[in-house]
This record gives sequence, C-alpha cells and structure tokens, in this order.
Amino acid sequence: MHQLTLAEIARGLADKKFSSEELTKVLLARIAQLDPQLNSFISLTEDLALTQAKAADARRANGESGALLGAPIAHKDLFCTKGIRTSCGSKMLDNFKAPYDATVVAKLAAAGAVTLGKTNMDEFAMGSANESSYYGAVKNPWNLEHVPGGSSGGSAAAVAARLLPAATGTDTGGSIRQPAALTNLTGLKPTYGRVSRWGMIAYASSLDQGGPLARTAEDCAILLQGMAGFDPNDSTSIDEPVPDYSASLNGSLQGLRIGVPKEYFSAGLDPRIAELIHNSIKELEKLGAVIKEISLPNMQHAIPAYYVIAPAEASSNLSRFDGVRFGYRCEDPKNLEDLYKRSRGEGFGAEVQRRIMVGAYALSAGYYDAYYLKAQKIRRLIKNDFMAAFNEVDIILGPTTPNPAWKLGAKNSDPVAAYLEDVYTITANLAGLPGLSMPAGFVDGLPVGVQLLAPYFQEGRLLNVAHQYQLNTDWHTRTPTGF
Ligand code: GLN
Repeated sequence: MHQLTLAEIARGLADKKFSSEELTKVLLARIAQLDPQLNSFISLTEDLALTQAKAADARRANGESGALLGAPIAHKDLFCTKGIRTSCGSKMLDNFKAPYDATVVAKLAAAGAVTLGKTNMDEFAMGSANESSYYGAVKNPWNLEHVPGGSSGGSAAAVAARLLPAATGTDTGGSIRQPAALTNLTGLKPTYGRVSRWGMIAYASSLDQGGPLARTAEDCAILLQGMAGFDPNDSTSIDEPVPDYSASLNGSLQGLRIGVPKEYFSAGLDPRIAELIHNSIKELEKLGAVIKEISLPNMQHAIPAYYVIAPAEASSNLSRFDGVRFGYRCEDPKNLEDLYKRSRGEGFGAEVQRRIMVGAYALSAGYYDAYYLKAQKIRRLIKNDFMAAFNEVDIILGPTTPNPAWKLGAKNSDPVAAYLEDVYTITANLAGLPGLSMPAGFVDGLPVGVQLLAPYFQEGRLLNVAHQYQLNTDWHTRTPTGF
C-alpha cells in the first residue's frame, strides 16, 4: 500500500479497496520502522492522523468525494499547526506550539487530508542540505551517506522513501525543487502569491512560497489544488481564480516552444548531468516540442543578489525571536540586553546567526545603497531577462542542480560552496516565477532533476509538460533500495 501515489490512493478509497484509517495505520507503522534511518520527521501526529482518517472515511461513507479526502500527507515544520510543535528546525522554537493553523494546513485539512506529522528541515529554511536542523541531519534514502537536499529535506526524504505519498514544502531559493531533484521526486514552486504564506514562518518574505513535493506531476497537481488560492490574511496573495490543475495534465506538447539558456551549460555543471538534461530535451522533442537556445545574460549575478536580499529579509523577520514573547529564553538573564543576546545566541544555530549578521550589515545605514539597493536592481534585471525570454518560448528548461547529492558534511566548512548549488533555482524566486523539478536519471546511483520554468501563473503548463514526460519515461517510478 505504501507504493501508492495520491492519485492511486484517491481511486482506491473511492472504490472502497481500503479505508483511510487502514492506510494511515500502514504508513505510521512504516514511519516507525524506517524513519530512524532517515530522521525525516521532527514530530509525528499519530492521534491527529487517526482522528482525521476516521473523519475522512465517515465523509466518504456519507457520499463526499475529493482527491485529498483521506489522503495521508505531512507538513514541513514551518507551517503552523494548532496545538502542535512548530519548530522551524530550530532550538529557538523547540518549545513552540502554534496557536493557529497556517492557511495551507487549514485548507488541506478541510479537503480531508490526513496529517501524519511535521517534517525535518534546515533551521529557519536556511540551507541546501538539511544539515542545519537542530534535530539533526536528514539522510538521503538513495544513499544514506548523502544529503537529501534542503531546506525541505525531511519532506523529500520521507516521500522518496515511500513513508507517505506527498508532503508540503517551501521554496525561498530552491528548497522544494532542489531536494526533489536530489531524491528523485517531482516538486513545484508556485508563482509568488499563488499559495498563502499566512502561518508559514517567514524566512525571506518576498521570496518564500509553499508548494507540493510528490513522486509524480499528477500528484503535485492534486496537492497544489488543495494549497492554492486567495487568502485575505496574506497581503501578497493573489486574488485570481485557481485553475483545475489535474485537467491541465493531458494537453499535447505539439509545437511547445522550449527555451534552453546557453548560460546553463557552463563549467560548473557536472557533465554527466548535462548529458541527462540533453536526453530529457530529446524526449520532449519526440513529443512534439520545439527547442530554441535562449540567453539569460544576468544569471551570473543571481547568487550574490539572492545572498544579500534573503539574509536582509531574514534579519528583519527573525528579530521577533527575542526571548521575550515566545520561543527559547536563556536561563537567569542578568538584564534585558543579556536576555536578548543569550536567548538569540543560544537559540539560533551558526548558519542562522551568519545570515542575520550578513543581512543586518547589508541593511545598515551607509551600506544599504551599496548592497541591498544594488541587489534589488539586479533582481529587476533578472526578471527582465525572463520576460524577454518568455516572449520567445513557452517553457525554460535546464538542470535543477549543478551536482548530484553530496556527502553529509562535505560542504559544512564552506558555506559559499553550498550557496553555489542554488545557481539554477534562485532566479525563479527572485523573479517570482513558477518552477518545477522532475526526475531525469541517475549519476552514480544518485537522482538528477530537470527544471522547468514558466511564465506567471502557468503552473498548469509546468504540470502538463512534466506529466507528458512522465508518461513516456520511468525515472520517477524508481524506488530506493531498502525502501
Ligand atoms: N539554499 C537556499 C538558502 O539557503 C534556499 C533555501 C530555501 O529555499 N528555503 O537560502
């Protein structure tokens, strides 16, 4: 039963082959048995899961239907869950039980999804390896000595290991697409504003976006359907109707114009990944797509711009964790300043402290123009490059990451080496565009992802291309040994 996708689970539940309660028990037992190897969960919510599963079964018995009704999922541990620890992977929030549900959590619960638990993540979503979590590193099910990617590494490892069919993640600079690529999943970062950020603990507010991680594009369509939509509680949420994503899967790719940026195939890209990307291009050509070389001339400035903007916003967002209102408080503070200093010094890990310092510096009087303002200007140039490209093509295709999953600890002493892994993903966040990563093959037994980017609100187009690709390839069906 653990091999079933969300779409198959929906059919099985509708046909009464099994109940949500049965399925939930099978998956909870599987998590108890296998997760100690992976460390993909921070909290399990067995009681809530069984209550929700029984309620979903009762709703089905009453004639209700719906693709998510009774479907087991998990939430990245930065989505607030009422009465349940919401840690953000940090000692700072180890004792924090959210007083309300995030909009995404509430929407999925209303659709009948069953929450199995809260997944591990890089502390405050800062990282690409899931090694900065206060709760310890997550292991990649494809090779337990390697990282699963980050920051949604717990969601990715759990879904890849068939502990559950799908999970939520968030993507500020690649944290859905990159772990999806490194664990052989399909992951989608929606257009900025498509999914509510209310109750999603903020890292960099102008870049953060929640989205689905699953094994197939078909399942990403189902989960995104439950997450997307206008929310008056989020002032950046867009009041546009949500299309039927599952209905968009079956369009023909005949004549689809795919742009391949020449800058993507630079020296930094592992040549074995380049070959797999070219294979995926050939596959899409067979389906009728037309390939065109394009250029994104400002791409080289994306990493420096992102690593000014994201820490700047983080330094502001994380100022609320002061030891006074909620979260960690140091023992026996001598005075107010000591309370702030030690609560933050002891509650935040090294990477979070590094980013707060970089961000506060970039925003300080005298440096604001040189760093933050300059980075915002680059951001606009990057967006303009995309707008020009999308005048000529419907989709942009390239690698999701320059390398496959690295060994645990390999980049710990060199933060910049890890930042460079984000080169293909962060431009979509800077521009606010939707992006998807899907399985494209293996290098040394480790998964490789191909990334698709589309114009604003064209999530359906991304899912369509990915689904057609997955009907004609079987990379996404491969299961890691031992799981
Ligand atoms: N690796 C990037 C960072 O550390 C992206 C993280 C994310 O998308 N949350 O900022």
